[in-house]
Amino acid sequence: METEALLREMEQYAQAHHVPILNEGGRRVFAEIVRERRPHRILEVGTAIGYSALLALSRTDEGAVLMSLELSAERLAVARSFLGRSAYAAQVTLLEGDAGTLLAGLAAQVTDPFDLVFLDAAKGQYPDYLAKSLPLLAREGVIVADNVLFRGYVRSEMRPPRRYRTIVKRLRQYLATVQAPPFATTVFERGDGLALTRRIYEET
Ligand code: SAH
Ligand code: MG
Repeated sequence: METEALLREMEQYAQAHHVPILNEGGRRVFAEIVRERRPHRILEVGTAIGYSALLALSRTDEGAVLMSLELSAERLAVARSFLGRSAYAAQVTLLEGDAGTLLAGLAAQVTDPFDLVFLDAAKGQYPDYLAKSLPLLAREGVIVADNVLFRGYVRSEMRPPRRYRTIVKRLRQYLATVQAPPFATTVFERGDGLALTRRIYEET
């Protein structure tokens, strides 16, 4: 099926079923990053219904592959169905389970490193996802993290509601880590905040 029509259908599904896919601002930033960097191997943490997966594969070079991790069997079934109707079905591997656990296991299974890792599952786990993604990342690879400004709370003095406190604390921790050597990070404020992180290397 034609990609753009399928993306629109997925946007409508997400809205009707309250699935937190990349919002409008986030979509634009994410698509731009992918278009610019053209990753060949993508690892996604948090599939939901496969929206960002399809967006990524359709904005990079032909023949790219994407592996994506998702906890919810129900969402994964929806993702499988949507992606199965796309032109990219054969380029996607979906893994069901807790992302932290799956990531820890991937190091032993995956031989080729990833050019782009997209963090978008449990927001309170980003520091852990980062640590577990680094061994899987190509030397010049990048990590993109969604929702890093979390409804404005991360950079605000305002005390977040109790249910968000751990998330906000961990996202602050995540940003502090990736904004210091050996990392360099750009935070895009559009959407719910996206952080684009690369590693910096000492010149030899
Ligand atoms: N990347 C998607 C949206 C992902 S929404 C897009 O933009 O299109 C976040 C997803 O992370 C949800 O589907 C949720 O089920 C999943 N998730 C939450 N905790 C998780 C965990 N511990 N392991 C794996 N997936 C998790
Ligand atoms: Mg998100």
